[in-house]
Amino acid sequence: MVGENKIDVKSTIVEIDGDEMTRVMWKWVKDDLLFPYLNMKLEYYDLGLPKRDETGDKITVDAANAIKKHTVGIKCATITPDKNRIKEYGLKQEWKSPNATLRAALDGTIFRGPILVGNILPGVRTWKKPIFIGRHAYGDVYKNQEIRVTGPGKGELLFTPEKGEPVRLTIHDFKGPGILRGVHNTDASIQSFARASFLFALDRKMPLWFSAKDTISKSYDGNFRAIFQEVYEKDFKKKMEDAKLEYFYTLIDDAVARLMKGEGGLLWALKNYDGDVMSDMLGSAFGSLAMMTSVLVSPSGYFEFEAAHGTVQKHFYKYKKGEKTSTNPMALIFAWTGGIRKRGELDKTPDVVDFANKLDAASLETIESGIMTNDLALAATPNKNNKVVMTEDFIGAIRKNLDKKLKVT
Ligand code: NAP
Ligand code: MG
Repeated sequence: MVGENKIDVKSTIVEIDGDEMTRVMWKWVKDDLLFPYLNMKLEYYDLGLPKRDETGDKITVDAANAIKKHTVGIKCATITPDKNRIKEYGLKQEWKSPNATLRAALDGTIFRGPILVGNILPGVRTWKKPIFIGRHAYGDVYKNQEIRVTGPGKGELLFTPEKGEPVRLTIHDFKGPGILRGVHNTDASIQSFARASFLFALDRKMPLWFSAKDTISKSYDGNFRAIFQEVYEKDFKKKMEDAKLEYFYTLIDDAVARLMKGEGGLLWALKNYDGDVMSDMLGSAFGSLAMMTSVLVSPSGYFEFEAAHGTVQKHFYKYKKGEKTSTNPMALIFAWTGGIRKRGELDKTPDVVDFANKLDAASLETIESGIMTNDLALAATPNKNNKVVMTEDFIGAIRKNLDKKLKVT
């Protein structure tokens, strides 16, 4: 497929580049699996750490605004700097997590689900269908204030309303050193989280579970539970019932126990931290962190597709030394196909949607034929056809399958 035979993607997609091994693979995926087949209008934002440092992190805010303008963004994994990274990259300061900045700007819910292939069985024997996680992407410990308590003193929680009397609670009377944390959330953000979750469940025809710890955290988690129930009764009860889908609230510990015994096939909505942890657990249980898709859905209708894993630092250091690595690009490929498919749906261009579906299928069939990266070989059903390949060769094998599907000769 060359020149004028390429498929036109009608509207602009926001491309957000990142760091390390994922940045390397990002380019390979584009050059080998996308550019030869598609005419895309990409608005490019380089969120690689050097550029974030150079622009005082303005580039991240610009990227968020670009998604608001163009609706669909596709993001590579990025480094969240810590003390070591400051030294490694000579940073001006410890920049905030770009994901946190983007999520705060778009106020969304992150939906994560496994990429399933026939020759990798889930770690949990009873699981037969995918389990999706809906992770609230605003507030809680990701937007907190913390104090290192250095000695005796009183820790207090204080709310000063614009009108009326302040509310003051003692958190703890410290007799010695300790720690304090203040977290928050807003009804508006929780309502959008609940709405996004019901919409996603209806869209994918899956029952919805929400779980928290409202027995212990009666006001905080209790508020999440109450809002979910309100949103359900007001706007979604009838739709869910018509679709024969259940909405179910249960305590998070009960949910974990049920999940381990169930067969999957549901959307599990979770608060920010619970969703962060549980999505890595699910990703690994379904085979590999690199087999997990992730999309941020904002209540205003913006979509940001990404991989659920990080920048795969250890592999990058090998790559920098000139070694070839067997790093898995599946989640990056699925971030691109997810974004391209959504663009096609919004633009009403079925050929673009069809391309995304074919690239997905070509990737899955490559793994099912036994050609896979090292992380997958460890999880795959043993077979004499299984062959571990380096990333470039894996992408090459996908391209061959894609060409067959697109009838390119
Ligand atoms: P990571 O990139 O998720 O990788 C952790 C380990 O998981 C790797 O060392 C590798 O195991 C395995 N792995 C993850 N993705 C893989 C892939 N595509 N193919 C094969 N194996 C894969 O986490 P990290 O290396 O601890 O973190 C690196 C950086 O990522 C950090 O600076 C962090 O801030 C950032 N991060 C970014 C995001 C994001 O942008 N969404 C999310 C999480 C972390 P083996 O080494 O055993 O092969
Ligand atoms: Mg995580």
